[in-house]
This record gives sequence, C-alpha cells and structure tokens, in this order.
Amino acid sequence: MGLFTKDIQSMDDLFAHQLQDMYYAENKIVGSLPDMIEKSTNPDLKTAFESHLQETKSQVRRLEQVFQLCGLETKAVDCPALDGIIEEAEEVAGDVAEDRVLDAALIAAGQSVEHYEIARYGTLIAWAKTLGRNDCANLLAQNLAEEKAADQKLTSIAESGANRAAA
Ligand code: ZN
Ligand code: FE
Ligand code: FE
Ligand code: FE
Repeated sequence: MGLFTKDIQSMDDLFAHQLQDMYYAENKIVGSLPDMIEKSTNPDLKTAFESHLQETKSQVRRLEQVFQLCGLETKAVDCPALDGIIEEAEEVAGDVAEDRVLDAALIAAGQSVEHYEIARYGTLIAWAKTLGRNDCANLLAQNLAEEKAADQKLTSIAESGANRAAA
C-alpha cells in the first residue's frame, strides 16, 4: 500500500492485488507441503499431500499464465492470512506428542489452507468474469477445482479413520 496515495484505484488493480496475493500463497504452500508430507504418518494422508504438492506447482504455473494474459508483472505480495494459517498449524503440530493425533492436526491445517484458497479463487473467478477475462477465469477455475478436490480428499481420509484412530 502506498503511504501517500492509495495504490488500488480500480477493479483491475484489485484483481491484480488479489492475484499477487494468491501467487504468494501458492508459492508458500509449495514450501510448506514437504514438511506436512514428512510429518504425516497415515499413508493415505502422505499420498494426498504429495499429489497436492504436484498440483500446487501447476497452480503456480497457471497463475503465471494469468499474469501474462492480463499483461501484468508476475509478482507476489505478502498474504498475512495464509502466513497466519501456516504459523498456527506449525505451532499446533509442534505441540502434538502422538503420531495419529498429529495426522488429525495436519488434516485440520490442510483443510484451513484449502478453504482459504477456495474462498480466494471463488472471488478471483468472479472478478475475472466481471472484467471480461473469461480466459483467466477458466485457468483460475482449474485451480479452484483442484482445491475443492483436495479438501474433499482430506475429509474422506479423516472420515475413513484418521480421526477415529486418533481418538
Ligand atoms: Zn496491499
Ligand atoms: Fe493451491
Ligand atoms: Fe491474502
Ligand atoms: Fe490447495
């Protein structure tokens, strides 16, 4: 944010800002997932995080395509919301003594991240359409579909026993 001038003047600027925020978030997630994979003990959970890491890397590429299509500079702005979710997850995980309880904590952390992403992509897609950028909306919709599937996968792992095993 500018000190003397407000740097978001239009919907285009707001869209760009939110896109840069997601670019930061996805890159941060690429950095955080290896740690979550390492900490997971449930093999299904490990696999789910591993495949979402690969998807997240393609999501970063899609965001780069969106920057390009819109003629925007590919850059990231801090996302304090995602930093907070990751920080909280690391704090809680650090306090868990038992493996299966740790899996439950990791599922909860993963789902918080997915829900943040689902909210943000929903908004970005709506704004892209408003701005007449269906090409960008389509790319963003591919990311959104992967986040929703990742969220559902985590729900099914939790329901199929990870939480019960932890109880
Ligand atoms: Zn800002
Ligand atoms: Fe993502
Ligand atoms: Fe953010
Ligand atoms: Fe995700």
